[in-house]
Amino acid sequence: MSHALSPTADELISLFPPGTRLDGDGSVVVGGCRLEEVAARFGTPVIVVAEHALRQRARDYLNAFRSRWPRADVAFASKSFPCTAVQRVMVQEGLHLDVAGGGEILTALKAGADPARLVLHGNAKTDEEVAMAVDRGVGLVVVDNFDDIDRLEHLVPAGRRQQCLVRVIPGVQAATHASQATGHARSKFGLLPEDARSAITRIERSAKLHMQGVHTHVGSQLLDVDQLAEAVAPIARLGTFETYDLGGGLGVRYTYAENAPTLDDYAEAMVAQARTLLPEGSRLIVEPGRSMVAHNACTVYRVTTIKRGEIVHVAVDGGMGDNLEVSLTGQRFEATLVSRVGGGDTVTVVGRHCESGDELIDGVSLSDPAVGDLLAVPVTGAYCYTMSNQYNGARRVPVVFVADGDARLVVRRDTWDDLVLRDVD
Ligand SMILES: *Cc1c(COP(=O)(O)O)cnc(C)c1O
Repeated sequence: MSHALSPTADELISLFPPGTRLDGDGSVVVGGCRLEEVAARFGTPVIVVAEHALRQRARDYLNAFRSRWPRADVAFASKSFPCTAVQRVMVQEGLHLDVAGGGEILTALKAGADPARLVLHGNAKTDEEVAMAVDRGVGLVVVDNFDDIDRLEHLVPAGRRQQCLVRVIPGVQAATHASQATGHARSKFGLLPEDARSAITRIERSAKLHMQGVHTHVGSQLLDVDQLAEAVAPIARLGTFETYDLGGGLGVRYTYAENAPTLDDYAEAMVAQARTLLPEGSRLIVEPGRSMVAHNACTVYRVTTIKRGEIVHVAVDGGMGDNLEVSLTGQRFEATLVSRVGGGDTVTVVGRHCESGDELIDGVSLSDPAVGDLLAVPVTGAYCYTMSNQYNGARRVPVVFVADGDARLVVRRDTWDDLVLRDVD
């Protein structure tokens, strides 16, 4: 309850995708589309993506790094919003794609990605996935362990060389939720520096592999750019390579109370470290996920019931089925009614799933909510679609792109039939 603030309409809008405004009657308009109309046409819950804002963010990312380090590439971390429409936007805007596992290789290729511009991650890649990467010509395979090297040695055909990065544990204790910290010494991702050195030596001696560079990733939702920049020194110490991949992890502003670094703050901090520690002319890669997509989408729900007990529970037609960030990382979100922005009393927004933990927002002010109202939760572009699921027979959430007043469906909602599609007996 202590969280609830009563934001002004401007503050509220500031969490929605750039270009969001209120219509004459006070209703929220994203990408030129009234959310009411999007909900009427496509149903709820629905994830609404502002396409122009997403494209602009991709261009801004590339520019923030290229203007400071000419050989910089941006690889979108597909896992933060793994649908072909989002991946296609990134490809069209000149980005590379970071993919984790075989499934994301397939969606990236379906989205039109050049396989040479894919970076494959994974701490537990299977034979099948490594074979897929080799067969499809994935540009960079990030070696996470010695078994990856064995698999590649076995699967890369004679006469070819697979370009590799070696993932290094940077030894940075990130100030973020434990499930989002990946750079500490006990992390399951990557190799400690001494082991990374052995892996590098093995790759350098291999006839089938090429030691292209080193990779690291500190964690996710980091709001301190200096902590992100701390990852550069540990990989710089491993030697001189063609490529240094600094991972992703930049945090975003989810709530009125929060501040997040700007893209320029981030690029400057990373490149400042690169200028002092990395060889001039080397290639830098960054792999943003959350900070690329989070702000460029919102989720629209319909209020199904309101229970006035010791506290007021406003229940909606979604929840853990379309947003696991709350239960997984404790992330706080904000919300507003679509047609009455700002003001009101503090309520708790809960989902429809059979878990007490299925609480979308603990304490948010809504202006006189009623059954049937539409509720919009901003900053749901990252990891919400990703982990959407069929818990309690939920039909997985659709994705709608909005731009210039047009709304188009890019991922449909599950049908009722989809719920039994895989039941073969
Ligand atoms: C998840 C992940 C990213 C993206 O992280 P964000 O916090 O979404 O920016 C980048 N690189 C790797 C290796 C990852 O696992």
